[in-house]
Amino acid sequence: MQRLLEQPQQQHQTAFIDIAKENTFPFILVILGLQISIYLFETYAKGRQLRNFSVKERPKEVSFVKQEEFAKSQSHSRDMLGFKMHKEYQEQFSQIILWYFKIPAILWGFCGTVLDKFGIIRDSTGIHNDIYQGAIFLLIVWVYSEIEGLSWTLYNTFIIKENHGFNKMTLGLFFGDKFKSTILLMLFGSTIYYGLMKIIEWAGTDFYWYVLGFFVSFILISVNIIPNFIMPLFNKYDPLPPGELREKIEDIAKEISFPLTEIYVVDASKRSAHSNAYYFGFGNNKRIVLFDTLLEQHQGEQGILEIASIVKHELGHWYLMHPLQMMAVSILNLALMFKVFDLILNNKELNRSILANMGFGHESVFISLLIFTKLYETISWFTQLTQVMISRKFEFQADQFAGPKYKFHLAKALIKVHVKNASNLNPDPLYASLTFSHPQLTERIKALGYEDGQEFQSLLDEQEKAPQKEVSIN
Ligand SMILES: [Zn+2]
Repeated sequence: MQRLLEQPQQQHQTAFIDIAKENTFPFILVILGLQISIYLFETYAKGRQLRNFSVKERPKEVSFVKQEEFAKSQSHSRDMLGFKMHKEYQEQFSQIILWYFKIPAILWGFCGTVLDKFGIIRDSTGIHNDIYQGAIFLLIVWVYSEIEGLSWTLYNTFIIKENHGFNKMTLGLFFGDKFKSTILLMLFGSTIYYGLMKIIEWAGTDFYWYVLGFFVSFILISVNIIPNFIMPLFNKYDPLPPGELREKIEDIAKEISFPLTEIYVVDASKRSAHSNAYYFGFGNNKRIVLFDTLLEQHQGEQGILEIASIVKHELGHWYLMHPLQMMAVSILNLALMFKVFDLILNNKELNRSILANMGFGHESVFISLLIFTKLYETISWFTQLTQVMISRKFEFQADQFAGPKYKFHLAKALIKVHVKNASNLNPDPLYASLTFSHPQLTERIKALGYEDGQEFQSLLDEQEKAPQKEVSIN
């Protein structure tokens, strides 16, 4: 193995770049051009969606929702999207200014002087240790983005969500959450940062497999740590009391040999009125979590069947091994990402030319990594598109898994969840294909075997007339 520290002439971080003599690749312009193109295309799709949100009359495909429910979802979705577009516009603008005027290079120089002030010594070639200088750099960027992001989050939570009746959070809880998540981020962030930088420093040009291994282990550990130790820091998980719902869920688990050990109800209602359900756990120790908001929204005998149908859908993801496949896709994505980084870092000419173009005076692994993440933002736009496509396919499969016994209740539950969450009921096809991780509601109802909204509405009416009798539609 080629070790950087033993072969100083190979070091990535010692060579100074004579910017005047470098034949620089117009990296900034290429990257900003790509980014602006993606931004404009996305804004076009969002504009189309925004136009759909202005429709007043409920389309006949969604005749199973009431006109006032449709209007509520339209105004909620329009406000949320409008907010998002405004935020993205500002972010895009500041990103262009930042990179075009080479502010990262200026900040990098500033971090060097900060280290000098602290009396940290430069090496014989006159540069600081990459890990320290990078840590100061990240700290400054992080504090800046926290301050910038805080006003957006506060506005979104306490103005928009509040106006639509979805916010249940107090300011005290908001800042309590912020405090806890900041500590966790520091802990996880510094571990990843230090681990990554140390591996590259140690392995040199052969870092690829070591870095990939480090990240894959980190993902596998996080998947286990997050639901077991992190999420209980934010919410309370109580076992679901014995009763009909518990029995139904246990029956479903038994039917498909799902190794269920506990069913929890989480107090999600203290933050938001949105509802959900999921499962977690490794191997033979799996647990199901239901939001208390879900129990509130689906009451009575029909409600129990609706929640059971949602659980059947969730367990369908497990049965069909969707999370494993999704994880494989993420790891593949990571492998691709580091391969690109590997190619750039090990192509000395290209790497130097990019650094010089960005205004950096010497080579540094940290800076290459920083610039690379900028480049990867554009590549990941395409990989994310693939991921949402796969996710939509999986959702259809999990819906089918509900089977004839539950499909009517699942359709009903999906409608109810959409209405209660005031989700998008009038999606634009282009916007939906770019952003939806779940298929459109009408497509899902159709795939469950109900040709159109009107047909489903007549089934609902029938059920309403005979509320005592359980509807079984096969
Ligand atoms: Zn699902």
